[in-house]
Amino acid sequence: MKKILVTQSSMPPFEEYVEEIRSIWDSRWLTNFGSKHAELSDKLCEYLGVQNIALFVNGHSALEGMLEVMDLKGEVITTPFTFASTTNAIVRKGLKPVFCDIDPNDFTLDADKLEACITENTCAIMPVHVYGNVCQVEKIQQIADKYNLKVFYDAAHAFGVKKNGVGVGNFGDASMFSFHATKVFHSIEGGAVVYSDGSLVNAFKQCRDFGISGPEDIHYTAGNGKMNEFSAAMGICNMRHINEEIAKRKKVVEKYRELLQDIPGIQLNVIQENVESNYAYFPIVVHPEHYGHTRDDVFAALAEQGIGARKYFYPLTSTIESLRSIYDPNDTPVAQHVANRVLTLPLYANLALEDVERICSVVRSLKNK
Ligand SMILES: *Cc1c(COP(=O)(O)O)cnc(C)c1O
Repeated sequence: MKKILVTQSSMPPFEEYVEEIRSIWDSRWLTNFGSKHAELSDKLCEYLGVQNIALFVNGHSALEGMLEVMDLKGEVITTPFTFASTTNAIVRKGLKPVFCDIDPNDFTLDADKLEACITENTCAIMPVHVYGNVCQVEKIQQIADKYNLKVFYDAAHAFGVKKNGVGVGNFGDASMFSFHATKVFHSIEGGAVVYSDGSLVNAFKQCRDFGISGPEDIHYTAGNGKMNEFSAAMGICNMRHINEEIAKRKKVVEKYRELLQDIPGIQLNVIQENVESNYAYFPIVVHPEHYGHTRDDVFAALAEQGIGARKYFYPLTSTIESLRSIYDPNDTPVAQHVANRVLTLPLYANLALEDVERICSVVRSLKNK
């Protein structure tokens, strides 16, 4: 029985990477804002349609860097339906997460419930473009403007996504992208913050480099978040193939949709209007009252066939052990409901369509059991 993993990293041809790193041997410049770093920064700005970018060693440190540079205090409104990183970054920067519920169709922060979460201590909003679904960016910005709040997006899933032709990194004050090996675009490990205020360029440099602001001057107590040249070289190679990668993912997603669309109790991800998707994930929500079995049953049936699916995101980040005594997951009932029912199916550019058929037949035959 052939195993199918939930994801598989995309790789450029081996020779292409070798060629790309040759000049690193010649220069012996391995890290600290080298020429690969500069080249990748330029290519990403162009591709994402943004003005300002700061590359980081990984997406999580990009999130922390983003919060650090903005010099915030108090509460940050976010959602618990995300990867632990989002919530952990807020807590680790000395801020208090306030959990807003999510929309049951696109799983992003429900902007209609946002205003009720605002207090006199609120300083920022950090919504997540979950699965590459674009948040209600206009409504969120309106509310942020009304209360004079910053907006930072966790855009880890949304590389290359556009709404009305505008790159998703242009919404809010700043957005974080993750370039982890499992993401649509990767630099092995890596991440970036794109931001609107060009005057922050030095602050973003310092927050990645111990706060060093000059040969004999350290401005503040930052950590080390620099991306190295080998990662940047991988990013440069992967950038050359990104459109092709997304096109292949699209084919996989279309196959899934075709084969799963009419199964009662299996809810598929929304297709958002005027959004150019990156086909990052394929979540299904299993409704036992119509499907006859639970999400965990589907997970187990797939596992039995050597197919890896992922309970992503489960559990909610409001149940992280150190936060459990402070938050009640029932305060975000929609997020709780979705987390208990959601499953992401295998998805990567080279996933064979026959494998998609095999996966879907497991989901279909379980329904009839
Ligand atoms: C991957 C991910 C991160 C963290 O990025 P890393 O590059 O793995 O550090 C943060 N938030 C979300 C939603 C993610 O999926």
